[in-house]
Amino acid sequence: MKAAILTAPAKISQRPLRIDEVARPALQPGHVLLKVRACGVCRTDLHIVEGELAPQRDHVIPGHQIVGDVVEGATAELPVGTRVGVSWMGGTDGSCWYCRHAMENLCDQPTFTGYTVNGGYAEYALARSDFVFPLPAALDDLHAAPLLCAGIIGFRSLRVAGVEQGERVGLFGFGASAHLAIEVLHAWKCEVYVSTRGGSHRKLAESLGAKWVGAETDKPPVELDRAVTFAPSGDVVMVALANLRKGGVVAINAIHLDRMPEFDYDHLLWGERQLRSVANMTRADARDFLQIAAEIKLHPKVTKFSLEQANEALLAVKNDAIDGAAVILP
Ligand SMILES: [Zn+2]
Ligand SMILES: [Zn+2]
Repeated sequence: MKAAILTAPAKISQRPLRIDEVARPALQPGHVLLKVRACGVCRTDLHIVEGELAPQRDHVIPGHQIVGDVVEGATAELPVGTRVGVSWMGGTDGSCWYCRHAMENLCDQPTFTGYTVNGGYAEYALARSDFVFPLPAALDDLHAAPLLCAGIIGFRSLRVAGVEQGERVGLFGFGASAHLAIEVLHAWKCEVYVSTRGGSHRKLAESLGAKWVGAETDKPPVELDRAVTFAPSGDVVMVALANLRKGGVVAINAIHLDRMPEFDYDHLLWGERQLRSVANMTRADARDFLQIAAEIKLHPKVTKFSLEQANEALLAVKNDAIDGAAVILP
């Protein structure tokens, strides 16, 4: 099969992914083999390819927003031809303290799709049968793919931030994840304030009904009940914190930040303000979000790339050169 393979992490401008023919994965017990129909491109893929996340294998096929059809390893629940989604959480041990306490997103022995095991920048991918999600027919391949990490983890961020109906919520950064979260927030009748770099991202936020839109470090005109930061920047976290009411929460939706600046406790955190990170996702997050997505007819803005263009797709994500999400169609 054809696949995009990473052997040595490097800046994406150096095109570290090699497009090559490799053996199709062999079926393993408890797994399904999927024929990949689409695979979303996530900023985490960029961190893996550029080496900001330490390599876990001598080579890896990235990609953890996979839409595919079951072609081998079918079960009664997953007959051949079932169209399923695969996300970042590729598996857990099911036995550690976190798994036993309904926090499988924090599992001590997790499997991460496209990082610790091969992912979906390929024609075929292997996935654990208990970590795939049958997809509603209402969601086509191209538009389902970005829901599988950007969507699910964006949704988890809203849960971690403790968003309640009708609240004022700030979104800092407006890429693949935020442009889906805003629609969920509107379904919950929240007012959404967006600070982001790039004129086209600001236009997109306006077109999706943001109450207010500003540049990356602009201060929203009101105190926020909740904020979610998406940019991999500690300075942006500080801007979000500085706009928060007492008792409010900032959820950081980023697996990697450039750095965390020193900050003034008395003015920024005192008053029971909370700063929380968002780590991975649970299967319950995935199921709940995919149901909401189908109900509100969530329709991501997508840009298509071929498998041969995997490096270009990641470069576009890095440069914020596209609005919404990038999706690879192998
Ligand atoms: Zn992701
Ligand atoms: Zn565990």
